[in-house]
Amino acid sequence: MSGAEKTIPLREGLWTEKGHDGQPHLLGHRCLDCGEVFFPRKENGICTHCHSQNLELIELSRKGQVHAFSVVMLRPPGGYYRGDVPYALANVLLDEGVLVEGLVTDVNLDDIKVGMDMELKIDKLHEDDEGNTVMTYKFRPSAA
Ligand SMILES: [Zn+2]
Repeated sequence: MSGAEKTIPLREGLWTEKGHDGQPHLLGHRCLDCGEVFFPRKENGICTHCHSQNLELIELSRKGQVHAFSVVMLRPPGGYYRGDVPYALANVLLDEGVLVEGLVTDVNLDDIKVGMDMELKIDKLHEDDEGNTVMTYKFRPSAA
């Protein structure tokens, strides 16, 4: 390795490192006409609910509750997932009413429950072939 390894996001534009409160926030779109909230944001800028193009970029709440989850015991085929197994994937219902699927971290997998309070954490996903640290958004149990 050349020493030029970087820390890079899984995908640009999914979150901001420093939101209005200095904390990381996921970035979504809110439709100004019907109020629907989307994550990730609509790349084509069109609300799939009412077809409005009147979308505003918003910082989503860092907090939510587990709506559903599954524990994955085996490494998925295809090589796109390089993290630890088993791992948990949860659908977290954020305060805006939008469901976000993400990895769960900092918890014993047996302790995850529907309705559990979660908060956002930007965390390492894996290292890519160039030695870069790829970051993604995850959810961890929230104290509040
Ligand atoms: Zn709309």
